[in-house]
Amino acid sequence: VIGDGCGGKEERMLVSVRIRPLNSMEIARNEFSVWECISNTTIMNQNKCFYEFDRVFGCECTTKKVYENSAKEVVLSVVNGVNSSVFVYGQTSSGKTYTMNGITECSVADVYEYIERHEEREFVLKFSAIEIYNEVVRDLLSTDARPLRVLDDPERGTFVEKLREETVRNKDHLKALLLFCQAQRQIGETSLNEMSSRSHQILRLTIESSARRYSDKDSFSTLSASVNFIDLAGSERASQALSEGIRLKEGSHINRSLLTLGTVIRKLSKGRNGHIPYRDSKLTRILQSSLGGNARTAIICTISPARSHFEQSRNTLLFAKCAR
Ligand code: ADP
Ligand code: MG
Repeated sequence: VIGDGCGGKEERMLVSVRIRPLNSMEIARNEFSVWECISNTTIMNQNKCFYEFDRVFGCECTTKKVYENSAKEVVLSVVNGVNSSVFVYGQTSSGKTYTMNGITECSVADVYEYIERHEEREFVLKFSAIEIYNEVVRDLLSTDARPLRVLDDPERGTFVEKLREETVRNKDHLKALLLFCQAQRQIGETSLNEMSSRSHQILRLTIESSARRYSDKDSFSTLSASVNFIDLAGSERASQALSEGIRLKEGSHINRSLLTLGTVIRKLSKGRNGHIPYRDSKLTRILQSSLGGNARTAIICTISPARSHFEQSRNTLLFAKCAR
């Protein structure tokens, strides 16, 4: 059971923490790791302060293991018609993109394995991808960088106008689409380093399925849901504001989408009563149907083990605590 004993906490949000290994530059500077996993759920720092989460993963852990214990169930709920979201949260260089790329790869393998095992159903997969930078939405499947509008429709709900949606032909096609998005994002990274740390990437896979022929009433039904993979902007500017619950000021350098997401997640984790400010940012508007309700959510918070990143890592853990 996820999140037991948290007083009214929704059991649909799974919060884990991953520590990346020290990199060669940090080792060259004689840095050492100031965080340690002391169980599957507990992480401790050099001051013997410990923090508990649904799962924690040390620097020796493979992404496959992280995926299997933190995101797999959430991802696969999509084939049963349940919307879901997988987030990576953390400061720049803590391993968000590394973790998310591995998770999407594992997810593709598992989704196709599921499809192959269920020949009695017919599956249709659709893929779309966006980037949000400074509250401007762009299509990552298009080389045209024009901003897209986010609109509301009484039937469709909130959607991104003119967003390209590819019907996925097979596993290799989906892998190629993921690689295309990674490349699109890397272009931004080399030309404008700021951008990659301040932008959010959302990859969305929508899966529809229906029975191939009439067998029994239940399997005759059509199911449709989306799973979102969200590589968030670096938390360095927002984490303090988030953990202290400071309100967003106009013109501040804090990322509106990241801050609003933090508020939404904190409110959802305390139960679903009261107003949830989905409409305050593009990210939360676009993800509304995949956050809250019966949607499933996995948040993987990534931290650097280095002493020089201690404050940022602590802020990330405080955010993770609020989410849980
Ligand atoms: P972020 O997206 O949070 O800015 P990255 O995912 O780009 O961080 O990671 C920064 C660097 O650290 C990259 O070179 C990446 O390959 C490496 N890295 C991150 N996490 C791990 C890990 N768990 N194991 C090995 N290398 C990692
Ligand atoms: Mg990144």
